[in-house]
Amino acid sequence: MRNDSGSLILDTTRRTLMSGAFAGAALLSLSPSLGWAQDQQAEAPESAKAAAEAVEAVREAILRISREVWENPELSLHEEVSSEIHLRELREAGFTIVSTGTSGIPTAFLAEWSQGEGGPKIGFLPEYDALPALGNAAEPRQTPGPTGVEVGHGCGHNMLGAGCTGAAFALKKVMIDRNIPGTIRVYGCAAEETEGAKVYMARDGLFDDLDACLAWHPGPMNATGLLRTAAVNMLRIHYTGRTAHAGVDPWEGRSALKGAELFGTGIQFMREHLKPTTRLHYAYTDGGGAPNVVPDTAEVLIMIRDQDRAEVNEVTEWVRDVANGAATSTQTTVEIDHFFGMHDLLPNETLAASMHAHMSALSMEWTDEEQEFAKACQREMSLPEAGLMSQIMPMLPEITTGGGTDVGDVSFNTPTALFALSTMPIGVGLHTWPVTACGGMSIGDKGSIYSAIVMAGVGYDLMTDPDLRAAARADFDRRKGGRAYVSPLPDGQVRPSGIPQHLLLRDGSQELGVDFVENK
Ligand SMILES: [Zn+2]
Repeated sequence: MRNDSGSLILDTTRRTLMSGAFAGAALLSLSPSLGWAQDQQAEAPESAKAAAEAVEAVREAILRISREVWENPELSLHEEVSSEIHLRELREAGFTIVSTGTSGIPTAFLAEWSQGEGGPKIGFLPEYDALPALGNAAEPRQTPGPTGVEVGHGCGHNMLGAGCTGAAFALKKVMIDRNIPGTIRVYGCAAEETEGAKVYMARDGLFDDLDACLAWHPGPMNATGLLRTAAVNMLRIHYTGRTAHAGVDPWEGRSALKGAELFGTGIQFMREHLKPTTRLHYAYTDGGGAPNVVPDTAEVLIMIRDQDRAEVNEVTEWVRDVANGAATSTQTTVEIDHFFGMHDLLPNETLAASMHAHMSALSMEWTDEEQEFAKACQREMSLPEAGLMSQIMPMLPEITTGGGTDVGDVSFNTPTALFALSTMPIGVGLHTWPVTACGGMSIGDKGSIYSAIVMAGVGYDLMTDPDLRAAARADFDRRKGGRAYVSPLPDGQVRPSGIPQHLLLRDGSQELGVDFVENK
């Protein structure tokens, strides 16, 4: 229940992100007259060819991950099968599994491979959670998938995960072939859609010793750059009142719903005085069940976003005051559960430029059948039949979108960069059925492969070029500006709240054992 609500809220997050910069960028692609058609003159990095060959050698493992995770879609924090698919392939590829149940999250993990002494450390960030109501077959129409419609990879994390873990396999191969010292880390990033594992891993300092961290996201276009995302806090505001017969003796009751409604009204009254960068959005998740019963419980989930943690924290204090004020006015009591938060995303110009060079070296080709598949999806969605993008867009300028990602917390601990590669038709947003459909066929396979080539190439350059690492670090230091990393998680929040009980028990820690005994 909690998990589902969280998913819904972050769905909106993602859609905002993609309908902002990314969808705008996709629109650009429809206007060739704007003349951005590639930095064709830019030299392909020396490592691009080696990266492509290494990915070819591990191609089957990458496709197994992409396809099997797609066939077994699991919601955030429930990714039992999906995390095990990654772990199985990592073990097979010779990686050491450093931990499972990492940072208190049963479906998170940490794997590593190392060679030589004192080399650089580069991280990859596979995700593998799916979304409610987005199950779909690998067909260009809305129709149930192998496991129905209840859950599906509508954010493409089957490809995202396969590309990241696959890049680690390919990078390992090139490092062995060329005898390069260094360490490759693979972070099993559970629950990106809800209470992201990366935030817990960052709290535990798991990114502190990295030289850089790389990731990508499936999208409707091929782009990277200086995109920033918003910082976020998530609060559950729970009102308790006193029930009564709403017709006979309502004066005996105190409505928890009135508390929640007054809270919502208070939020509206804040808006005039908030900065344009602030976003407040909420949903009533409990409002009573019958009009003739005074409801004694009510709940609102609210997300507070702004351009950085300082702004978000300031607005959060005001939201708390509003929640308390509403309780006083309605003679109810309120509990404020601040259960999650994320940092904004710090871009890294050095890493983004390196990614862009490797993306430009890709020879991205779509078959006529794939373009037809994409156009059929676009027809179904009443979108222009522009097919799939194959060009690489120019570097995106530094802009902040209203969306958020838990990669933000990684980006405050080590130089980090992201890129998007085309895995869905132009104009299609994330969190829609065509994303699931394309992710389960050859379009998704290519996304997984192409993304692995880009990340293996950038990873190799980072492993072998101290100047590149130093430049990435300098940009990181400059943007971070001496701010200490303070976890956005509330004090005492050990792990996400939405972990299913049977997975908690598997964790085997004493604390959870006690919980289990009590619950019996
Ligand atoms: Zn996603």
